[in-house]
Amino acid sequence: MEHLIHKYLDKLEKQGLARRGKTIFLALDAERVSSRPEDDEVRTLSRVFDLMSINSLLFAEPDEPYRSIIAELVRGFEPSLSAQGKIVPMDCETRTFFHDIPVVNDFSPEEIARALSHRKSVLVKDRGIVTYGVVAPEQAFVSFSSACFSTFVKYFYDSLLYLRECAGAGKKPDGAFLITFKRMLGHIEGASAPPAGLSLTDAPPEDGDGVIRMLAEAGRAVVECRLVDSFFGNISYVHENTIYISQTGSSLDELECCIDAVPLDGSSSVGITASSELSAHKNIHRETGHTAILHGHPKFPVIMSMYCLKEGCDRSLCHKTCREKRYLAEVPVVSGEIGTGPTGLMHTVPEAMREERGAIVYGHGVFTSAVGSFREPFTQLLEIDTACRKEYLALVGTLLGNGGRH
Ligand SMILES: [Zn+2]
Ligand SMILES: [Zn+2]
Repeated sequence: MEHLIHKYLDKLEKQGLARRGKTIFLALDAERVSSRPEDDEVRTLSRVFDLMSINSLLFAEPDEPYRSIIAELVRGFEPSLSAQGKIVPMDCETRTFFHDIPVVNDFSPEEIARALSHRKSVLVKDRGIVTYGVVAPEQAFVSFSSACFSTFVKYFYDSLLYLRECAGAGKKPDGAFLITFKRMLGHIEGASAPPAGLSLTDAPPEDGDGVIRMLAEAGRAVVECRLVDSFFGNISYVHENTIYISQTGSSLDELECCIDAVPLDGSSSVGITASSELSAHKNIHRETGHTAILHGHPKFPVIMSMYCLKEGCDRSLCHKTCREKRYLAEVPVVSGEIGTGPTGLMHTVPEAMREERGAIVYGHGVFTSAVGSFREPFTQLLEIDTACRKEYLALVGTLLGNGGRH
């Protein structure tokens, strides 16, 4: 168990989510183990552990920019946007995953346990995020990482709407909001470039083992470049009439044992554990003839995709029904829900990708594809992310009235 705790402490740090020194991980082995020697915080968390039927508990003060973002969301930079006991994620996938994220004022075991009894994570005002796992510490890690993702997306999206509203009404944005917002922009402008020398295999694989190696390599690269949380997103490759696809809920940076091989002719019922987006991948392959398909949730494409300005559109429904023809980073934005329903992305995305190098799903993420290897889809995903981040910065620059500078 201790090696698992250290594995997730490492992942939290590597993905820029929380530093070791600011994190406490408790997990149940033969007995309860803690990543930190007993102190007041550990005692409080142990009490939460006693109040719940869980196997692991994670508490950390997130690293910047998440710490300030969460503080801002909780404070509410506009009275109408204050958290009021909970934060409601705006993007589709974490909204499905979380519903909402409760906020409690005190680091009190009873309050924390009460909030966690019906939700996967809780924000403790001015302290941090608490999450848990019922069967494995991985669940605590996934919920933590998702809480960071969804608060990030919500903050930058809400800020965009707020600035637009201010610009429209000719009023000056709140001073305290602006100070923090500009500081947060500093974080995203300086977002690190992908690690140098990252080059993916370019040769098509020879056999099933080769496909799995290729998928694992591409999955790791996508996580390393922070184009997806390690959990959400999926990836597939078609080889000899079989689609090899990541299993649902698998960590993209550890795919070696989490790939399903599903025959394209439907001759097998395997695929129950395959990604929930299997049908979308199959349809993309059918429409485009592409064999390497990548799906991630880079933050700025998600944020920018939700910025629909079409008259008459109810933005809370755009992910299902928006018919506004829009392009971001030179790829189309389409509506599309998770799953196989009539407004599902398995219908909208493949059609949109017939002539394009990728597609952005409203409030959800990006699909890219190519023939032969993941090098091109990976580069495209990276480029779409960078272009959307630049578009966001340009847009807020305009809204702040200084033509691109802020
Ligand atoms: Zn997705
Ligand atoms: Zn719309």
